[in-house]
Amino acid sequence: MTQSSAPFLPFVRPEIDDETIAGVVEVLRSGWITTGPQNQAFEAALSAFCGGRPVRTFNSGTATLEIGLRIAGVGPGDEVITTPATWVATSNVILEVGATPVFADIDPVTRNIDLDLLEKAITPRTKALIPVYLAGAPVDMDRLYAIAKAHNLRVIEDAAQALGSTWHGKRIGAIGDIVSFSFHPNKNLTSIEGGALVLNNEDEAKLAQKYRLQGITRSGHDGMDCDVLGGKFNLTDVAARVGLGQLPHLERFTQQRRKLARAYFDGFEGGAAVKLGVGLPVRDFEHTNWHMFQITLPIERLSISRGEFMEELKQRGIGSGVHYPALHLFSLYRARGFKEGMFPHAERFGASTVTLPLFTQMTGDDIARVCRAVNDICTQFAKQA
Ligand SMILES: *Cc1c(COP(=O)(O)O)cnc(C)c1O
Repeated sequence: MTQSSAPFLPFVRPEIDDETIAGVVEVLRSGWITTGPQNQAFEAALSAFCGGRPVRTFNSGTATLEIGLRIAGVGPGDEVITTPATWVATSNVILEVGATPVFADIDPVTRNIDLDLLEKAITPRTKALIPVYLAGAPVDMDRLYAIAKAHNLRVIEDAAQALGSTWHGKRIGAIGDIVSFSFHPNKNLTSIEGGALVLNNEDEAKLAQKYRLQGITRSGHDGMDCDVLGGKFNLTDVAARVGLGQLPHLERFTQQRRKLARAYFDGFEGGAAVKLGVGLPVRDFEHTNWHMFQITLPIERLSISRGEFMEELKQRGIGSGVHYPALHLFSLYRARGFKEGMFPHAERFGASTVTLPLFTQMTGDDIARVCRAVNDICTQFAKQA
């Protein structure tokens, strides 16, 4: 076993600058630490980023999806189509609003929902679609919205991983129906925890605000009414200040991630891993923000399991992750009748994918070290033919 002397390389680490840290201290000293002026400033900055569309912040990217569904009028009796290759939040929120999740398998090359299969899954009960931009790579947005329009469906984009991604020069968030972002620390921009919804008009924005805080509307000096059942989903000003401090760096973050992704492709080219059948993502430097760099392992050609492969990486001082096991095979979904074989591409991807380190403060040397480790492990544990 190779024990590494280099410092441990996690698979993700947020970059927060001193200006942001000083700003957070100021907020803490200001006397107003929950939702207030920092949230207003963060919403305004995000709105400007999204072409002037209305934006409302939330305390998670799960809350944004759930409220997005409510604003789109999705509820009991409705079907919502999404991918099984995503973080379980995407589908849990469909259950949360009382609707029925319907899955369409992924395209094994893009790893995103297969739009042909999505279209086939539409029934008279379908009310909305939740496309997920895995690792930041958008689906074919023209095709997606052509399908939505033809079938009169709402779209709640799970763009949790796609802040900074574009579709033919237009930002994700600046186009489309309802768009949901997450600011979890693993995402390209963080507010510690948090999220934002991009909406179509001021009526939707007002509704988002109500759902965010108990369904309350205030009027005059002392008026208050509650006319919808809202929850408690507001973002603190401390968190908003973190997000606000990150936003000016987003473009640089994206460029750096693209550079590192390129280094991965160069590092793997012609090496033992690729020769053995390790799968790489689509080589796209135009649309995706490179939220993650995920390889797939040729499990049948290795003498070790994926878990053991990840342990070998760890022994070499390298962190990794799994994003994501096919969610229809979780107990909650099996209990609803889902089982193996229903979405073979998502199942295969979910069982073989490994997320390699990718974050803005990594260097070319770090990438080379990861590529070397992956190649070495593949060489060491290749099954003898
Ligand atoms: C992170 C993420 C979410 C949920 O966001 P949270 O802020 O963690 O609630 C939903 N969908 C996808 C695809 C994600 O990556």
